[in-house]
Amino acid sequence: MKNANKTCAPAQAGAPGRQVDLSGTRSLPAQGLTRVRTDWTREEIAALFELPFTELVFRAAEVHRALHRAGEVQLCTLLSIKTGGCPEDCGYCAQSVSADSGVEATKLMDVREVLQSAARAKDAGSQRFCMGAAWRNPKDRDMPAIVEIVRGVREMGLETCMTLGMLTPEQAGQLAEAGLDYYNHNIDSSPEYYERVITTRSFQDRLDTLENVREAGIAVCSGGIVGMGETRADRVGFIHTLATLPRHPESVPVNALVPVKGTVLGDMLEGTPLGPNGEKRIDDIEFVRTVAAARIAMPLSMVRLSAGRESMSEATQALCFLAGANSIFTGDKLLTAPNAGDGADGALFAKLGLVPLAGEEPMRGCARTEAAE
Ligand code: SF4
Repeated sequence: MKNANKTCAPAQAGAPGRQVDLSGTRSLPAQGLTRVRTDWTREEIAALFELPFTELVFRAAEVHRALHRAGEVQLCTLLSIKTGGCPEDCGYCAQSVSADSGVEATKLMDVREVLQSAARAKDAGSQRFCMGAAWRNPKDRDMPAIVEIVRGVREMGLETCMTLGMLTPEQAGQLAEAGLDYYNHNIDSSPEYYERVITTRSFQDRLDTLENVREAGIAVCSGGIVGMGETRADRVGFIHTLATLPRHPESVPVNALVPVKGTVLGDMLEGTPLGPNGEKRIDDIEFVRTVAAARIAMPLSMVRLSAGRESMSEATQALCFLAGANSIFTGDKLLTAPNAGDGADGALFAKLGLVPLAGEEPMRGCARTEAAE
């Protein structure tokens, strides 16, 4: 596996020759070249979280503006192609058989129906079509349909992403051969807190799947959820784990827990005190800190504002974009959870002067450069 602790010329370098302070500890001022580190210590990540808020956001914005087009935000659409009935016991998930959430289990969607949804997403401006199946892992009998879906969506000119649970090296190879661009598999939290949220598969299982995906040559999408009752030290451990993978994930989704009644975490948070605005969710400033730390620690990755955005104020979302978030899910639904909706996003983009990402992601540009070397 290639080590990403190296320099890489980003495809969209914004300010050639500008000093980019990535950590407060090391920087490489050079013609748009920036050192991408995979040797972060937990202490360094913790020190980022401890910075005065405006200083942290400023540093994250500097990194973001140097390596990405700060006025562009990637639009992705997420479709549940197989809902509910999942044998895993993820404490936040309404699709687990352990949850009493009322989510009905369905079979894998018909290939044609999936392709029709993808066509609608493309018409609505999405660059990437993400598809999720509530499985522990895909069965070999499911793979032909999955492969057909990947091929069909790619033929439409959309990028493809799948999240199907754990993958064997063989299954990852099949998906790579079909042309899958991204595979999503979240680590969810710190290694320590993970065990309190999920018992049916280990943190190491997750890392093994990420490795299988990487080895197959598929780009990695991996992030997690904040607001599950974890401490800041867990949020540090979460970012640290991703930022010290042999190669950073190309996409890092940062979710704010959407507490669902009937799930372990939804019910647990039901009894907790309300926040200042009556919400039972992560403090907005702490959420933005998490986004900013992710941006600084993984400067070339796309940082995606994912679940929980529908209950965030426009001001909080704007702060997240300033702190380096540059990808969102569009549409009214995220698998089974509510999402902001295209109308609200259109209005927010107009207000903030943001436009959908049109070009290539920096890490993919890097991969092309590396392949050519
Ligand atoms: S998060 Fe995924 S693996 Fe976990 S219970 Fe839900 S659908 Fe299953």
